Parts: sequence; structure tokens; C-alpha cells
Amino acid sequence: TVSALRALSTAAQPAPIENPEVKHTKIFINNEWHNSTSGKTFQTINPANEEIIAEIQEGDKADVEKAVQAAQHAFRLGAPWRQMDASDRGRCLYKLADLMERDQQYLASLETLDNGKPYSASFNADLALAIKCYRYYAGWADKHYGQTIPIDGPFFSQTRHEPVGVCGQIIPWNFPVLMQAWKLGPALATGNVVVMKLAEQTPLTGLYIAELTKEAGFPPGVVNIIPGFGPTAGAAIANHPGVEKVAFTGSTEVGKIIQRAAAQNLKRVTLELGGKSPNIILKDADLDKAVEVAHSGLFFNMGQCCCAGSRVMVEEAIYDEFVERSVERAKKRTVGNPFQDVEQGPQVDRAQFDKILGLIKAGEVEGAKLGFGGKRMGDKGYYIEPTVFADVSDDMRICREEIFGPVLAIQKFKTLEEVAERANNSRYGLAAGIFTQDIEKANYLSHAVRGGTVWVNCYNVFSCMTPFGGFKESGSGRELGSYGLNAYTEVKTITTYIGAKNS
Ligand code: NAD
Repeated sequence: TVSALRALSTAAQPAPIENPEVKHTKIFINNEWHNSTSGKTFQTINPANEEIIAEIQEGDKADVEKAVQAAQHAFRLGAPWRQMDASDRGRCLYKLADLMERDQQYLASLETLDNGKPYSASFNADLALAIKCYRYYAGWADKHYGQTIPIDGPFFSQTRHEPVGVCGQIIPWNFPVLMQAWKLGPALATGNVVVMKLAEQTPLTGLYIAELTKEAGFPPGVVNIIPGFGPTAGAAIANHPGVEKVAFTGSTEVGKIIQRAAAQNLKRVTLELGGKSPNIILKDADLDKAVEVAHSGLFFNMGQCCCAGSRVMVEEAIYDEFVERSVERAKKRTVGNPFQDVEQGPQVDRAQFDKILGLIKAGEVEGAKLGFGGKRMGDKGYYIEPTVFADVSDDMRICREEIFGPVLAIQKFKTLEEVAERANNSRYGLAAGIFTQDIEKANYLSHAVRGGTVWVNCYNVFSCMTPFGGFKESGSGRELGSYGLNAYTEVKTITTYIGAKNS
């Protein structure tokens, strides 16, 4: 995995900064730093040792109000942002990407400190993909335009792709820098203004990047970033009548709350939610590769991926061998201080840690076979052993609920039709993996599974050039790629009388 990750990054990986200085802890509105209106602060915790890293200003409804006003002001007719050429919006985004690349070592170190993910992943995956994402959308800024349509009669019709306006964006803690890029990139390329709430567990990198947006030349009020909690700051964004679009990534439960709140003023809504993605291994698969990729497809980012391949479904003929090899691989997984060269760091916080250990217990009680792991590691930090369950049946909680932790559940199947049906027997539909050498079986399954992303003989291959999102309760709408632009634009039809028709 690590070598595949290194290939993503354009820069060579320098050593991490183990104690990166925390430079920003306040609320970013109008290109300025503010204390919270309430005077409240909250702590962000280092998940590797449970120590406090910093006190952060806690934004809530009153701060969201100020941010929305700043954004509305920046979006008023005649404002610098509305006057700016599309190609210059692109230049601001290119500049932001360049500044992140300048500070990639620092930002990757800060991400590792706040989130606990291994530094090599922060540097080569999160930062590298985020930088690519800003550059990709920088390129779109002056290329997402409408059509001319030769309607009947003496008229000229054109469509314009206009920004939606004030976009509320609420992001999670599992990929803080990258989720910020997935949201800011398309919103800013298309000329919107943003009020973003960072996840309370991981506010540090998002705040630093707020300062970089100012340095990159975005006018005041275009980007407003609020650290704070979901039921207060997040809910204030989802409920605000001045917010015209809301983009959310997080749990399905909160996604439903957001969608309900958005109905009040018919905000446009995009939701990237949870998953319980099947990874289907057929008996003719390259077994070495399938074992390794199924391992990283689940354990990458400590299992904290919405698209984690958490239901590994293996054809009967190779089942026993696959289980045995998966257990051996999990035993070799290196876990420890994320600033060292390890594959796995701690889970993000106490709540996730407790939830995961609770679900592991449920797996044991419900009769799944624990092949390896299952316990806490050490007595400081939220470390959990890489855990492998076999003989997992469809009705067990570990097969139905999103665990969001380092817990691989392996199941057995007999026929293609059976596995397709069982793979789809979930309220989720985010992603799926298929391992086989047989093109017809690959085609059959990749069409049959109901999920927004299907990986064939690979897993977790991310590109900002392709759309990402979920079927069913895994979300609505698509982010990324050219599809992702539609969520941030309104289409306007302008029809002009042109006098006598010539032809
Ligand atoms: P969450 O959905 O509560 O948090 C995601 C974001 O939503 C955070 O910024 C949070 O502050 C905000 N939020 C929470 N409640 C809100 C509300 N009422 N209104 C508006 N915003 C609100 O997720 P979590 O509690 O951090 O994690 C719980 C579970 O969610 C995880 O175990 C995992 O299963 C899932 N999750 C999924 C993703 C993903 O990428 N799809 C990311 C994080 C968590």
C-alpha cells in the first residue's frame, strides 16, 4: 500500500515534523481570525497519546450567522468575486494547490498529529490527492459553460451555468484535508461562496488551509471556515435560510437530519454517507493479490473509510485458504506511533474506539470466528489490533453495521447469483470490489452490484477525475469529476428575440 501511495505524490516524502506548531485555532470569517461569539472553546486531542493538542474557538449558531452574512456580502452583484474572470478563479485555485505543496510536509505532519493517520499516508495520499483535486478543479473554472440552443421561432436561446450562491459544507474527520478539497474545489471553481464546518475531532489542517486561501487571493467572505460541533454549528448551517446548498460527508443518520433541515428552504443537497461495501473474491482470482488488496481495502486509514471493503465475500473453493492467509497478513500489520514508518495508527477518538470495541464484542457474542485481534493495544492512545472475523453470517451486526474500524469480516458464498444478491442485501450502496480473472464474471458482477463505485482487481483507487457517491442510503448526488460541477451550478436559460429569422 505504501509504495502505491508514494506513486500518488509528486513530491519526495521528507521526514515528518513530530511536533508541528499549531498556528491557527480561531474562526475564519471574511479572511480574518475571530474568537467565538459565545466565548467557548473546545480541545482537540492527540489520538496517539490522548493528550490535549490545542484549545480551539468553538463556533456555533451566532458565528454561522456572521459567516453567512460575510458570504452573502462576498456574493453580492458587483463584488470582486462576482467580477473576477473564471480563469482568475482558476488561478486562485492553482495558487492554493501550490501553497499546499510548499507546506506539504508541515500539513501532513499536522494531519498525523490531529487525526492519528500514518505520516506516509498523510503526505502521499491525503495531501497529494487534495493538491491534485484543487488543480483539477482549477482547470475546470473556465470550462464549465452552457449551450446555445436553436429553438423554434425568431429567438436565440442560451444556457448559462451560474453559481448556486452560499454553500454550506460539513466535513468529517477521517480525511480532513481531502474532504475539504472535494468540497472547496468544485464550489470555488464555479464561483460560489462557502461556509464550511470542520469536524470537531480534526480542526487543525482545515484552519491552516483557510489562511492559505487568503494567501492564494480569494477575496474576503468567499471562504469562511468554522470549527465547532454538529448539533450546534453544523445544524445552524443546515437550517440557515441564507444557505442555498448544503454538502455533507459523514454518517447516514446525520445525513438524514441534514436532508430534513434542508427541506425548509429547498437547499440543494449532496450527501456522501456510510457504507458496508462488499469485496467479492472469486476462486480464479490471483490469490496473493486478492488477499493483499482485500487487507488494505479494509485496514487502510484504520478502517475509517466510507468505502472500506468491510464485507469480504469469498467463493467456497478458496475460502479456507483465503481466511488463513488474511489472518497471517493481519498478524504482520505494523501498528504504532503514526510518525514512524507504520501501516496503522490509532483510531480518531474515544467515541470511535469504544464503538469499534463494542462491535467486535457483538461479533464474538453472535458467533463469528475471531481469527486474529479483537483487543485494545497498549494502554495509551486509541489503538486497536487488526481484527479478522471469519464465518460471518448476513444477519450479524458486524455484517450489517458500519464499523469504521480495523475489523475485516469474511463470508463464504457458492454461486455468482447468490453473491450478487447478498452483496446487495444492505441499506448501503457505496462501493464494491471484485477479484477474478474472468472478464464475463467481472462484467456480470460489476453491473449487478448496486454501488456508486466498483473496483475490479483493485480497491481504494481514488481519482478526483471520476465521480464518487452512493446508491441507496449511502448518499445522494455525486462529487468529483465533471459530474461534481453540477451540484454547484444552477442552469439558467436565456431566450432573446432576434427579429426576423434568416434560416
Ligand atoms: P457524524 O456524521 O456525526 O459527523 C460528520 C460531520 O457532521 C461532523 O462535522 C459533525 O460535527 C457533523 N454533524 C454531526 N451532527 C450534526 C448535525 N446534527 N447537524 C449538522 N452536522 C452534524 O459522524 P461521527 O459521529 O463523527 O462518526 C459516526 C459514524 O459516522 C462513524 O462511526 C462512521 O460510521 C460514520 N462516518 C462516515 C464518514 C464518511 O466518510 N462517510 C465519515 C465520518 C464518520
